[in-house]
Amino acid sequence: MARKFLLCFHDFSVWNYQKCVPVLHSLAELTGRPFSVLVIPSTEGADADAVVGFREALVELRAEGFELALHGYKHKAEFSQGRSYMGLIGMNLTHGEAEFAGLSEFESTRLLQAGLAAWNELLGVDAKAEGGAIAPVAFIPPTWYSNKYLPHQVHALKMLYEDRFSLTTAKGRRYASAVSSFAGIPRFAEKLAFSFGQFVLSLPVGLPRIALHPVDFPRLTGEVRDLVRIALNNNRKLVHYSEL
Ligand SMILES: [Zn+2]
Repeated sequence: MARKFLLCFHDFSVWNYQKCVPVLHSLAELTGRPFSVLVIPSTEGADADAVVGFREALVELRAEGFELALHGYKHKAEFSQGRSYMGLIGMNLTHGEAEFAGLSEFESTRLLQAGLAAWNELLGVDAKAEGGAIAPVAFIPPTWYSNKYLPHQVHALKMLYEDRFSLTTAKGRRYASAVSSFAGIPRFAEKLAFSFGQFVLSLPVGLPRIALHPVDFPRLTGEVRDLVRIALNNNRKLVHYSEL
């Protein structure tokens, strides 16, 4: 099997798309290929112009060859009712970003459907997006905190599901996958995270992921680009979720 890796840009939203699009283009120039963009679909509170601009940016990225995945609903949890104890811990560790952490079956499906509805409003059949409806290729819960129902709920909707340590395709094929991520960790731990990334990307096996966030740029641009170069120099091929 050829060596592969995934490059995943998280948290692309109506609030940051203008700042992020040039970052995506510059990275795609380095990799020689567009990659995976994880979209926060809720546009609640944004003005109409921003929503139009966000939709156009998504349609354009897709036309350029980026693949678009669904990344939660608002990426902010609004309440803590109905969460398990572990879910509450997850919420605390991520400053309330783990919106699916420890939810009940009912709340988890409700939130997943809210995410899909917001996506469809942006990019679905009603969106009048050029080229028709765009479906999410994968679902990645914000911060990877989940609940025991979510993987099945995503599987039933025929999307690939990603957690912190693995990927499961819509057909049920599971891949172990180490992720390198630099957001939401203390600065002293960043160096360690990059060393870990360099290590897994230089191994002859596995399907490592590089998970990037808007807050990584521009501060960590140099380090991120070096990490991507290590993957490419090690003859790893950048793949999409849809190719697994
Ligand atoms: Zn995220």
